[in-house]
Amino acid sequence: MSDGCCGPTALEIEPFPAQATARELPTVVIGAGPVGLAAAAHLAERGLDFLVLEAGREIGASVAQWGHVRVFSPWKYNIDAAARRLLDAGGWAAPDPDWLPTGTELIEGYLKPLAEHPAIARGLRLGTRVTAISRLGYDRVRTKGRDEAPFLIRLDNGDELSAKAVIDASGTYATPNVLGASGLPAHGEGEAAQLIDHALPDVLGADRPVYEGKRVLVVGAGHSAATSLLALARLEDTPITWAIRAGSAARAYGGGDADALPARGALGTRLHALVESGRITLATGFYTHSVAKTSDGLVVVSRDPSGAQRSVTVDRVVSATGFRPDHSMAGELRLDLDPILGSTRALAPLIDPNQHSCGTVPAHGVDELSHPEPGYYAVGVKSYGRAPTFLMATGYEQVRSVVAALAGDWEAARDVQLELPETGVCSSNLAETQERRVGLATGVSGGLLATPLALVTAESDGGCCG
Ligand SMILES: Cc1cc2nc3c(=O)[nH]c(=O)nc-3n(C[C@H](O)[C@H](O)[C@H](O)COP(=O)(O)OP(=O)(O)OC[C@H]3O[C@@H](n4cnc5c(N)ncnc54)[C@H](O)[C@@H]3O)c2cc1C
Repeated sequence: MSDGCCGPTALEIEPFPAQATARELPTVVIGAGPVGLAAAAHLAERGLDFLVLEAGREIGASVAQWGHVRVFSPWKYNIDAAARRLLDAGGWAAPDPDWLPTGTELIEGYLKPLAEHPAIARGLRLGTRVTAISRLGYDRVRTKGRDEAPFLIRLDNGDELSAKAVIDASGTYATPNVLGASGLPAHGEGEAAQLIDHALPDVLGADRPVYEGKRVLVVGAGHSAATSLLALARLEDTPITWAIRAGSAARAYGGGDADALPARGALGTRLHALVESGRITLATGFYTHSVAKTSDGLVVVSRDPSGAQRSVTVDRVVSATGFRPDHSMAGELRLDLDPILGSTRALAPLIDPNQHSCGTVPAHGVDELSHPEPGYYAVGVKSYGRAPTFLMATGYEQVRSVVAALAGDWEAARDVQLELPETGVCSSNLAETQERRVGLATGVSGGLLATPLALVTAESDGGCCG
């Protein structure tokens, strides 16, 4: 029988036989970043069978790409509770809870030991990229028996696996936003790609020769932009222009000393001081429209909504315009995505940067992360879609809740708890905070400017925090 009334379904086959149902199959976790590995720790702790499929040759492949960046949340926020229990039992030397690790330290001091723990290592498959997820025998349209059908996971080598549930922690790092102000690539962006870096080049390390002594344009208003700007400012003879769509950089300057994460607050304070001192030229209301290689350099043209044009000529561009989720591999699943962010609809109102700027999000878990496709959950930074304020701690609570639900422990799944450090810049106190900060910036010392950087999350031109 067909599910619908009228489709060409005369040859429809029976649902898969009972022994192919999902119950005994493993849960597949996609991605061995901080949140995917935390999911594995929770699955292991609850005695649930799992596989973690990681595209990279090593765990934390995305974090490794920003390994030179020092995060602004100290260790105490960056370690998942179940992971800590596993590691502690094995005699792990826990890092100083107040230290701000670099991405590399995050891997070496935490993610790697976790991945090497026998309870995790047995389920970990590196160099294994997932290309598509569906239900075995079911395209997106077919309903009857769907919920009992196993998930089908297709890999890039053509192999296919079956799974009871899918925890998609594949992140967003591989899909940065474009340079164009309207969300479309700027004209010429593809042709100029070799002169455009996405966040976050290693300006003071491996990429120094590419930037030192060059005219650089940084586009974006988030922490990644700020991080790159602060690093560039330490290079001599390197003129820097910073372009944002907004009419003011107030939000980008953040909460300063009102930020519960001092390193995050200091980021905006230092940036503000560099703009005030003239070291960085700020171009507000800049709507990147086109990029063209000329004999004098890369001409980046802004065309604002009124049609007014202006341009800046540089040698290199850092496009720190944020990231977006790629849901294409789940295209045959029934996802109910928020039209603005690409998160679930239930999560969107809690994180929409048009409305929220505190850096906090109410505790949420399996209920807010559920799609019409039971058993599929996008977690971690991917769960936030285009919203810029994701913190690891949020992802750890997400996977704790999701795994509890998969174990049938709905009481624990719904007992969600999360305390995040506030940025000190909420929509309501933004103006007041900025007034205070303008005064503060003039007193910022050269010593502070020279302080090693402590940095970053994702970004958007619309939010305070991205
Ligand atoms: C520069 C930077 C600084 C940040 N600083 C902080 C901070 O201070 N504090 C904080 O709490 N958060 C911070 N964040 C935000 C966030 O916590 C991190 O991005 C974090 O790495 C997100 O973890 P994740 O596990 O969700 O995703 P990721 O770390 O992005 O991991 C995703 C993994 O999935 C793998 N993968 C992708 N596609 C596939 C596929 N198809 N098949 C198999 N594997 C796949 C990738 O290789 C990767 O290993 C920062 C982010 C950035 C970019």
